[in-house]
Amino acid sequence: MPARSARALVLERPRELVGRDVPVPAVGDDDALLRVEACGLCGTDHEQYTGALNPGYAFIPGHETVGVVDEIGSAAALRWGVGRGDRVAVEVFQSCGRCDACRSGVYRRCERHGLADMYGCIPVDKPPGLWGGYAERQYLGPDTLLLPVPVSLDPAVATLFNPIGAGIRWGVTVPGTQPGDVVAVLGPGVRGLSVAAAAKEAGAGLVLVTGRGGRDAERLALAPHFGADITVDVERGDPVRALRDATGGLADVVVDVTAKAPAAFAQALALARPGGTVVVAGTRGVAEAPGFGPDVIVGKELRVIGALGVDADAYRAAFDLLTSDRYPFGELPRRVEGLDDVEELIRTMAGEGEERAPVHAVLCP
Ligand SMILES: [Zn+2]
Ligand SMILES: [Zn+2]
Repeated sequence: MPARSARALVLERPRELVGRDVPVPAVGDDDALLRVEACGLCGTDHEQYTGALNPGYAFIPGHETVGVVDEIGSAAALRWGVGRGDRVAVEVFQSCGRCDACRSGVYRRCERHGLADMYGCIPVDKPPGLWGGYAERQYLGPDTLLLPVPVSLDPAVATLFNPIGAGIRWGVTVPGTQPGDVVAVLGPGVRGLSVAAAAKEAGAGLVLVTGRGGRDAERLALAPHFGADITVDVERGDPVRALRDATGGLADVVVDVTAKAPAAFAQALALARPGGTVVVAGTRGVAEAPGFGPDVIVGKELRVIGALGVDADAYRAAFDLLTSDRYPFGELPRRVEGLDDVEELIRTMAGEGEERAPVHAVLCP
């Protein structure tokens, strides 16, 4: 029988995304193989590409994967409750299910896998190599976490399970957003729009979304369709004033999902009411926070909470929200590319070249 292989893109070092045929492993009793249909791209993808984020090269990127189970062992099928031909989404974290972290539900900190062993950044040298979504096939090891994907969803749209799950966890679960709350969202990217929609779903009384300048204009214009009552371009307006004008006060919950916007953190603190909650979510890509003085946290007695990942509950809620059609996630301006053309798309997302980054970017191998 001829050896089978899958076409994949390997990021060998920053800016060297190389096509390679990677042998497809035989599937055992406890693992599976996915035919990748779509892989969502986010800030992590272009930061890995440019080297701003260095997980240790070489690896097959891609951590927001949706696909169809191609082959699966019987033990794995039983454990995951899926069979050949089922469409699933792959969680970025792996979980051993047995360590203290996994047992307590915080499987992001699994002692066996943890943050270094996420799909989309595992070395290609580690067998069987197919550890990311930039490939025709992705290997699903025994500790993979899978989510069923509703059959009605287009695979490229279904990759939004990841940012929408983040929106639900960061915008509602982590801060404990209550009906009637005033919620301010900094950053109008797909995660910010998801936070806005999730907050509105949780009954937020008013949602404000901020962006900055021309690069965010299209996204800010979309925000009212995703639950925003007020939008502010911070280059042209003061969000604190906008919030005071609209509500007479400040925000109960502020969610900062900006990237490469150093001044956003101080602005997030300024937008919070005394006793309010500020969620700092996702990685910033910047080390400094101009305008930030710790006394504002003391003076207002703020709760400042970091939010890193997403969990299964939020992902399941994300699929419910996606299929509800209450927000036009399916119509988000979206650019979809194949393996041959995705590199240019990633560069665009990194802010290089003439074109503006699309709101939602997807690779369909
Ligand atoms: Zn991502
Ligand atoms: Zn574990």
